[in-house]
Amino acid sequence: MKQDPRVSTFKQEFYSQVSDTDWSNWRWQLRHRIRDLEGAERIFQLTDSERQAIQKRQGLLPLGITPYYAALLDRDDAADPLRRTKIPSMEEFKVTGDECEDPLGEDAHSPVPGLVHTYPDKALFLVTDFCATYCRYCTRARMVGGGEFLPEKSMWENALDYIRAHPEIRDVLLSGGDPLILSDARLEWVLSRLAEIPHVEFLRIGTKVPAVLPYRITDGLLGVLKKYHPLFFSIHFTHPNELTLEVQEACNRLADAGIPMGGQTVLLKGVNDDPEVMKALNLGLLKVRCKPYYLHQCDPIQGSAHFRTSVEDGQALIRSLHGHTTGYAVPTYMVDTAGGGGKVPVGPEYIQGRDGDYLKLKNFQGRDTKYWDPE
Ligand SMILES: *Cc1c(COP(=O)(O)O)cnc(C)c1O
Repeated sequence: MKQDPRVSTFKQEFYSQVSDTDWSNWRWQLRHRIRDLEGAERIFQLTDSERQAIQKRQGLLPLGITPYYAALLDRDDAADPLRRTKIPSMEEFKVTGDECEDPLGEDAHSPVPGLVHTYPDKALFLVTDFCATYCRYCTRARMVGGGEFLPEKSMWENALDYIRAHPEIRDVLLSGGDPLILSDARLEWVLSRLAEIPHVEFLRIGTKVPAVLPYRITDGLLGVLKKYHPLFFSIHFTHPNELTLEVQEACNRLADAGIPMGGQTVLLKGVNDDPEVMKALNLGLLKVRCKPYYLHQCDPIQGSAHFRTSVEDGQALIRSLHGHTTGYAVPTYMVDTAGGGGKVPVGPEYIQGRDGDYLKLKNFQGRDTKYWDPE
């Protein structure tokens, strides 16, 4: 893989003894994740708040940053957008309003461990609790990195049995944790069993790996994935700074393997809530054949208030895109609701009411316009 200039400069400074072969080996990257204060201080000029938070975070969402991804974070500026999403601060310990551990009520909709069945014809299969990096606003902060959902075949068997017994499930979304940190063999074990179920006609993998660990997209992995079409990827992207040469290559390889990709982005205050940043991210994704799919309102997990914008701000962001650039670059803005109510699109409203047989509409420029739609 080509090395992004940011990555090669960083590697030279902090990992000069590491061979390029090791560096671009995804398992080496996982083994050498930055996991504690000492590791973080070797690279970053930490603020007091960051240092305290890393020391205090015992039992909570762990610190985990691959050396590759660390290259994309500013070493000196704690306000750097990607750095804020990976290095905790004391703000994470402030619990406000309606925040809770399981805001989507996933546990209540989990008939067997690791499986969430909220919607009629699709199920979410959490195959592992392990992620390549831990995002500070993680929806599943309650379970990731704790060893609770280790990829155990007995757990998978129970989930598979449930899917087999429910013919209405035609769509299975593998997530976690991150399914792509499983070995090729284990991933194939799960995919092949799902593919054998006659009523399962559509598979998806929800992952952040192409963005944080692009070296994982190996020929071996693609060889496995190609066998299980139709297989879609939902890739979690946060900011245009993630679109390195390595990530571009990883996405292009996935596209060449026939895998349609959708981008999923969490709207984060001070990270990507700026129209120019959001546009750059979404246009960048289109260039690597990934269609921006959902823009998620940040879920009210504990200690996430510093990341959350208002829904009105999110709607304004979508307005800044729709009509002003390629339609493919405009994701659907979603709020996931409490108690397993599911996702609800809350995109800005363009309908202004009726005028007799006409629907009154606002166009992308904010100009009043109309459409003949007799009652
Ligand atoms: C988001 C989600 C899905 C997938 O929803 P789509 O709108 O089809 O992308 C499925 N199950 C659960 C529990 C989810 O949260």
